[in-house]
Amino acid sequence: MKIERIETLVCHARMRNWIFVKVITDQPGLFGWGEATLEWHTRSVVGAIEDLAPLLIGEDPTRVEYLWQVMWRQHFWHGSGLVRSTAIAGIDLALWDILGKVHGVPCHKLWGGPVRDSIRLYGHLGGGNLESFYETPVENANRFAELAQQAVADGFTAFKAMAVPPTMPIEGLQPIKAADACVRAMRDAVGDHIDIMVDCHARPSPAMGLQFAKVLDPYGLFFLEEPCWPESLDGLAAINAAVATPIATGERLTHLAAFRDLFARRGCEVCQLDITHCGGFTEARRIAALAEAHRIALAPHNPQGPVSTAASLEFGFSQPSYVICESVHNDVPWRDDIVEEGFTVDASTRTVLPNNRPGLGISINESEVKKHPFQQEVLECVFYCDGSVGDW
Ligand SMILES: [Mg+2]
Repeated sequence: MKIERIETLVCHARMRNWIFVKVITDQPGLFGWGEATLEWHTRSVVGAIEDLAPLLIGEDPTRVEYLWQVMWRQHFWHGSGLVRSTAIAGIDLALWDILGKVHGVPCHKLWGGPVRDSIRLYGHLGGGNLESFYETPVENANRFAELAQQAVADGFTAFKAMAVPPTMPIEGLQPIKAADACVRAMRDAVGDHIDIMVDCHARPSPAMGLQFAKVLDPYGLFFLEEPCWPESLDGLAAINAAVATPIATGERLTHLAAFRDLFARRGCEVCQLDITHCGGFTEARRIAALAEAHRIALAPHNPQGPVSTAASLEFGFSQPSYVICESVHNDVPWRDDIVEEGFTVDASTRTVLPNNRPGLGISINESEVKKHPFQQEVLECVFYCDGSVGDW
């Protein structure tokens, strides 16, 4: 069996362009699906996949680890850069999909079978803009509370909110109190039996992130995400050591050695590797093993498209330390027109039962995808009140 060609399909889906990767073999009807979505870098990733393809054409698609090594190590430049590690991930996922199809089993059965009966999903409430945090703080906190109640009414037992305003490297009490008010409102609205996560989007400096973490600690968050830049390992470690709340990070790290350094410093308790950015299942399974050695939980970053979600779930059914799956709820109304998924979601509890179809268990309607061609994503630029550049 040989790889005959590699195609990409770009599908514009509201906030982002989904990049689906199709690896086609010389066996009739045998191909694999992957995903390599990377917001604001769609053209770069499609080009990177084109650059990698000549390394793979004519090779046996079932030699997945061998081909991963080829993609990562050949032609001098290692695959640790974000664009290339995403391109590798898209191809790697498709190769595992093929391997599952060859053996007639879901991917998680290639790795030892299911380690759990179901996976819990969490929803995303979104965030508030800077003005709403400061100009209408009471209404803003009430809005978070209403969104939280809606998520629970929709069946979620856990949700995440960006309930922390963007801040300059040092600011006074106002943003700390604004975040406190929003999280208190959500906790009061849903009670203690619902799990709340807060995402700081890596905007705060370590000094501000520490203050947010401390003021939110009494609310018993399930985790506090990216309380400072991912490059600041000392900052993450200091915050993680200072509070009881588990600190989560990892969605912007792209390779095993970066996670090694994060875990060695104990920069987090929850590893949010992104399977579509960190080299696919092949590298994600190595990162998971390393996390296991540190007793660090797994909660992969997963705001992308349907192949990414199928991949996160296959991973979750095979990984003992996987705790929860991020789900994008109602992203586009035509989602069901383009994709058929192998797993089932219990809508009343927002839990997922395992896929029983081979590979990722996913099929994509290519003619429907073509109705949603590439569009430039909205350019999300953030500036502080003095005109200096901030983080989105
Ligand atoms: Mg995040």
